[in-house]
Parts: sequence; structure tokens; C-alpha cells
Amino acid sequence: MSTSLTLPIVPERSDGVWDYISASRLNLWLKCPLAFKLRYFDGIKSPTTPSLFIGKRTHDALEYYYRHRQLGVRLTAEELAQRINDSWDEAAVADGMKFETAEDSDAARRQVVGLVQTYVQLLPADEPPPLAVETSLEAPLVDPVTGEDLGIKLLGIVDLVLDGREGPVICDFKTAASSAAPLELAHEIQLTCYAYLLHQATGLRETGLEIRSLIKTKKPQIVFHRFSARRLSHMRRLFAVIRAYLDDLDEQRFVYRPGWTCGGCDFSDQCNAWCP
Ligand code: SF4
Repeated sequence: MSTSLTLPIVPERSDGVWDYISASRLNLWLKCPLAFKLRYFDGIKSPTTPSLFIGKRTHDALEYYYRHRQLGVRLTAEELAQRINDSWDEAAVADGMKFETAEDSDAARRQVVGLVQTYVQLLPADEPPPLAVETSLEAPLVDPVTGEDLGIKLLGIVDLVLDGREGPVICDFKTAASSAAPLELAHEIQLTCYAYLLHQATGLRETGLEIRSLIKTKKPQIVFHRFSARRLSHMRRLFAVIRAYLDDLDEQRFVYRPGWTCGGCDFSDQCNAWCP
């Protein structure tokens, strides 16, 4: 009697997904492995929506503000509006953002100006100086409990690290439609990735993490939410997720995960055609 053993075909680790892991890759895979496959293996791009574009332009203006803060310059609300207005059309072309009408574009631009101006006007005068602004960090993924090197690096772009009185504070900017408090669990992967990166890449340990939400209400609102420094339990959870992610990649196992997020999914057409 002969026995045949069928082994899964393991792709060579040369594809882009093997170059690095990021919080956004992990989060998309957690949300739906099929959506992850369509995005990162099949290369299907998500269109730039007005909401996404508003978020990107807001991030750009805040980066501009904090890069000047690093140089000891505090830009005024008017100077920030100028930056947003001057870069708007070029950024729209670069991002493939096509507003339906010129009025829609103007309304979105005014919203970004309002959000950013409100943000800087509400900042505490004694906000600590930035240690890092829109900084790309990378580090090999080495399990802090077992010491196992997973053979792939983690990469992330951290919006802002402030030199707080007690120590570094990692800040992430979000533009949001409502002022509901962000659920810490929903942001845990991203926050823990940033804390891991900061420590591994610089030796610094954060004393807290903040999500700074710029709320797109008619009258813009700014809400800061503070979370505690990451503990070993956060790292254990992150590494458990990363191991499960790598197992799926190794085995090319990308099941669909229908749920409440399907309504906003960019891949619903391809999803309807999917069959394992
Ligand atoms: S529509 Fe739902 S199940 Fe299908 S790919 Fe998108 S998130 Fe996954």
C-alpha cells in the first residue's frame, strides 16, 4: 500500500506581503482574509473616496504643523489654511480623487481647513515638543516572551511622538464622523504595533498612547483619548495574531468573513464571485 501525502503549496517569500507586516495589513486580514487577499495578492486597489481624501489632507496639514514645531516654529491657523488650499488640487490629481462637482471639492477643502484650525486653536499652550513626526519605523519581529524571531519585520508610520513630561507619548490622528469614544480594543493592534516599533527601533518606551480624533461635525470637534502604555499581555496578543496571520499566508488560506463590515467593503463584486 502506498500512502501519498499532499502538502500545501507554500509560496516563495518574495511576494510583497512577505516584505513586512503592518498594522493595516493585520487589521484588514482580521476583518476579512478574502478582502486581504484581493487587496494584497490580487492587487485590487480601493478607490480614493472623499472621506479618505479628507483624512489624508488633514494628516498632511498636521504633519506640516508638527514639522515646524520641531523647528521651534508655531504656525498660525491662517498659515495652515494656506497650506491646505495651495496643495489641494495637486493632491487630488496625485490621489486620483475626482469630486462630482467643484462645490463638493470646495466643501471638502473647507472641512479640512475647519478641522485643522480647530485642532491647533484647542491645543494646550504647553503641549510638549515632538520627538518624531510622521516617522517610518521598522523592526524585526522577535517575540518578547519566547525570543523567537518570526523572520519578518514590522513596519509602521507613526503620526506623532511627543516628548511628554513623564516620557514619550505616541499619538495617532483620526478623522471621524461622530464623537463616540474610540473602542480601545478596536485600535489595539495599531497601538501595540506602534509601541513595539518605538521600543525596538529607538529603545524608548511610551508612557501612554493617544488617539486624537478630529470630528467632522458641522462645528468641528477635537477629542483626545488616552490609553495606558502597552503591557506584556498586549504583546502576547499581538504576536498570537501575527502567528495566525503568517499561518494563513503560508497555507494560502483566505476565507471570506461576511459580517457588518461588508456594507462598506470595496471588494463586494469580487467577493460575490468567490468560491473556495
Ligand atoms: S464583502 Fe465582506 S466577506 Fe466579501 S470580501 Fe468584503 S468584507 Fe469580505
